[in-house]
Amino acid sequence: MPVYLDHAATTPLRPEALAAMLPYLSEGYGNPFGVHSVSRRAKAAIESARDVMATALGADPGDVVFTSGGTESINTAIAGALSATGGSAVLSAVEHAAAFGACPPSRMRVVPVDHEGRVDLEALADLLGDDVAVVSVMLANNEIGTVQPLGEVAQLVRRKAPRALLHTDAVHAFSWLDVADMASGADLVSVSAHKFGGPKGVGALVVRSRARVEPLLRGGPQERGRRAGTHNVAGIAGMAAAAEVTIGTRARRVEEVGRLRDELADGLLATVEGARETVSRRAKVAGSCHMTFPGVESEALLVLLDDAGVCASAGSACASGAIEPSHVLRAVGMDDEEASTAVRFSFGWSSSADDVEAALAVVPKAVAELRA
Ligand code: PLP
Repeated sequence: MPVYLDHAATTPLRPEALAAMLPYLSEGYGNPFGVHSVSRRAKAAIESARDVMATALGADPGDVVFTSGGTESINTAIAGALSATGGSAVLSAVEHAAAFGACPPSRMRVVPVDHEGRVDLEALADLLGDDVAVVSVMLANNEIGTVQPLGEVAQLVRRKAPRALLHTDAVHAFSWLDVADMASGADLVSVSAHKFGGPKGVGALVVRSRARVEPLLRGGPQERGRRAGTHNVAGIAGMAAAAEVTIGTRARRVEEVGRLRDELADGLLATVEGARETVSRRAKVAGSCHMTFPGVESEALLVLLDDAGVCASAGSACASGAIEPSHVLRAVGMDDEEASTAVRFSFGWSSSADDVEAALAVVPKAVAELRA
């Protein structure tokens, strides 16, 4: 089995999620929208999952809309708010591509972040006004792990742009932070099951009652007209099961994983000359270890790590054939040369001390090999 340190990309399916899904991939095949017993069974699964997700997200069950994942939730929140009320969107510079993609450039304003990736509240205040339909600030960043001061953002939005909706992308946060509490000031909250041990292709969007959001998918009356299309019943059941375990074990896992992350980061700082952590540990979630290794192209390093059985990812993405530094690293002020040396090791529910031991045995050697 490879040493998997790429939980920010996706997580393995939790056994509890798989067990919750199996009945709806076999005899529980009903379409939840019918009236007969087979349908009613599927509908009961959806409604019980809705209750679980509502508790997990600090929402009323009626405010939870099931979607096909983080991208759809975020697109619905931002594009849906823009089409419901007109006006513009204000996005933090470190939002996921799903947020930028949901907004026409002519209607988008971008708030800078500081060197740790935290949104600049003064700059945000300057951008807020009556013409703003939606503000989107993610709760925790998937690349560098930074946690945003969402409570302060919410207060500012209420004061300076009372008509605007506040959306938070809590996709990366859910494994580590109490989203129900920390996102309580947001009107719209997005999550995705595959980031916390659930299946891929399913997520949820909280739409609190005051929020007017046009649906992205139109057709049938599912989700009270807010998202048409037959439900992914097994996926929704799996997401709820994964959410329950995540919440039940979260406080303990944050401590355990925080220790593993510290061990890895300290070990790499001690053994790899010039290694640097992108963001201080107090500013980010427990599972995040984002570092730069001067003189080493991260793409080349990832290949060597993969050969040695260690899965990690880079701070760059292949855009139109060229390796482009990520917008997040540019936003925190990292130059392109340093960004090309960035590697993200990310922990999750299945991570163990063995992963750290293996990574510490492999990474310094691979860096030395490339430097030589
Ligand atoms: N937002 C964040 C912070 C993410 O990490 C991701 C996934 O990479 C997404 C949104 C998109 O979610 P999904 O893969 O479910 O579409």
